[in-house]
Amino acid sequence: MQKIRAIHIVYANWCPHCIPTTLEPIKNLALKYNIPLYLYDIDKEVQKADKIVKDYGDYSEDYVIPQVFIEFDEGIKHIFTGYSEGVDFTKRAIENLINYDFNFMKFEFSNDFDLKEIVKEKLIGEGSCYSHCRDKTYYKFINEEPLIGIYYCNKGYISRVISYWKGKADYDHFISFLNTLTKGKVNIISEDVRVATRYSWDLGIKDKNIMVREIYWTQNYNKLLKRNSEALYICKECNNLFTQRIPTENELCEKCLAK
Ligand SMILES: [Zn+2]
Ligand SMILES: [Zn+2]
Repeated sequence: MQKIRAIHIVYANWCPHCIPTTLEPIKNLALKYNIPLYLYDIDKEVQKADKIVKDYGDYSEDYVIPQVFIEFDEGIKHIFTGYSEGVDFTKRAIENLINYDFNFMKFEFSNDFDLKEIVKEKLIGEGSCYSHCRDKTYYKFINEEPLIGIYYCNKGYISRVISYWKGKADYDHFISFLNTLTKGKVNIISEDVRVATRYSWDLGIKDKNIMVREIYWTQNYNKLLKRNSEALYICKECNNLFTQRIPTENELCEKCLAK
């Protein structure tokens, strides 16, 4: 095993992705191999937590937790970020991570893989609509280069827009994509845009060392309502994306409404 000097976890007590999903198995792992474990509660050790995430991890204004880091002889490496796709995703990913042979943990990644296939296989699943209702969500790809998909509920409300990247992710490109998509009518706040890195070891890929970066925007219904902004929907009839004033029960774009 490469010399592991310590494991660091940034977490929150109230987060089900953190406790018990991530902390328990990693605590056990650290105990088993006698590795020092450092925990940073984002509500108590704000500065330490922010610093390690900013320096080594998936940093954004309101970053995703948990994030796990391994301290090797040569320095600290980010190895895991919780899955906003759902607690089930985080649970499975942690299982993959725990069962991974840490001897094979290398931080050079191959670009020789089919991104869309990996996304379809590993990063799409059932979820529930966020902030708008509690119904289940559906998934649809809306762009190929860069690869972008949406989660939406049966009322057509889009709760998340996610872009996927091999290696370097282009934050500005994604923001301008969102602004084009919403024709500038939806208030996109930077704290609702987050990044997450997925690796072979948590995706459960054995034959290749790959990395996928996600940048995603969560469309927060209540925030938009308060800001008097429009919201992004997918038309029930024609599947085109459109924006409209909320609150509303309307599920159709202008063209389909006019029919
Ligand atoms: Zn909904
Ligand atoms: Zn339509």
